[in-house]
Amino acid sequence: MNFDTLYYQNQYTKEFDADLISCEQKEDHYETILSQTAFYPEGGGQPADHGTLNGVEVYDVQLEDGKEVHYTKEPVEGPSVHGAIDWKRRLDLMQQHTADHIFAGLVHDQYGYDNVGFQIGDVVRMDFDGKLTDEQVRELEIEANKVVWRDEPVEAQYPTPDELEVMDFRSKKALKGQVRIMNIPDVDVCACCGTHVSHTGEVGLIRILSCTKHKKGVRVLMLAGDRALNYDLAISDQNHEVSVLLSAEPQHTASAVKDLLDQNKKLQARIDEIKFSELEKQIESIPEGQNISILFADNLDRSMMSKLADEIIDNRHAKAAAIFAKNPKDTAYMIISSEVNLRDISKELNQKLNGRGGGRPDVIQGMVQADEETIRQTLEELFA
Ligand SMILES: [Zn+2]
Repeated sequence: MNFDTLYYQNQYTKEFDADLISCEQKEDHYETILSQTAFYPEGGGQPADHGTLNGVEVYDVQLEDGKEVHYTKEPVEGPSVHGAIDWKRRLDLMQQHTADHIFAGLVHDQYGYDNVGFQIGDVVRMDFDGKLTDEQVRELEIEANKVVWRDEPVEAQYPTPDELEVMDFRSKKALKGQVRIMNIPDVDVCACCGTHVSHTGEVGLIRILSCTKHKKGVRVLMLAGDRALNYDLAISDQNHEVSVLLSAEPQHTASAVKDLLDQNKKLQARIDEIKFSELEKQIESIPEGQNISILFADNLDRSMMSKLADEIIDNRHAKAAAIFAKNPKDTAYMIISSEVNLRDISKELNQKLNGRGGGRPDVIQGMVQADEETIRQTLEELFA
């Protein structure tokens, strides 16, 4: 690994001058190599820098055979090249990467788990080889932000093999050659090739979005800096809206939503009761002892359909009861019987009424697409 590059010598290099070594045209892009560069190539979970070379946009940088290859859509002309890093993007990536070291360092220190996966995408993904509870993650999140406030230095060190031998540091893989160690005093010592802010204060803010089971450990999703602030602002705006809608204190929106859901449940139960007693009247007008008694209604859920079908069997002594619930696009059905094997007629019923569904010998349910008259006729034929 060559650490004698501009992005390692000074991670804050925003602009630089270099000589053009080569610019080759490939299928749909150009690949440029310079005498020196401040463009960080994708690696170690950190995406490549973007920016411009003589005003030509660089959309990717890869390390190939030890050289940084700059990808552009237009040719880069020499002999001298002025490079400018997209600093907003790079600073964001440095904030995310340093936040990862802070959080993973604390996890390692307190629980002994290793950070076995790391990727900066839309969010920062960190995989650990041990389990963490939500409470532990919350404590770590608070602790990580305290490290931010303490504004600790984040320093790159290049230890000799002898120094490395006795050094206690985190590493994701076996290391060869010169090793670069990122050190945050009392927080983290980690072998790393990425770019970092010089003091933890520049990370600004660390927010943990989630911690879920992953393989034998957990996957933690995190945001830092501007991203964390924007996330918090968006959540805060949402909460404010809910708070206004429910006339609840911003700190008590969850219990206000819970009350609303409870109230909704009670109202739904009351609506069901009224609906059921109305349909009961219809059921009373059905003649007794039919082979199949059919009831049509609008918008019924499964439990209501089942209750109505039972009511028909019990009160009208029908051999089979069919409930059809009309929806905007199709009609849901439920048929029950303890005397007829419904499975035998299910296929024919679906065929004749453009339907789908099935079930057990004593209950079948599904959807049909047919008008009320066709449904009645077909059922009377099938149950004759
Ligand atoms: Zn790192």
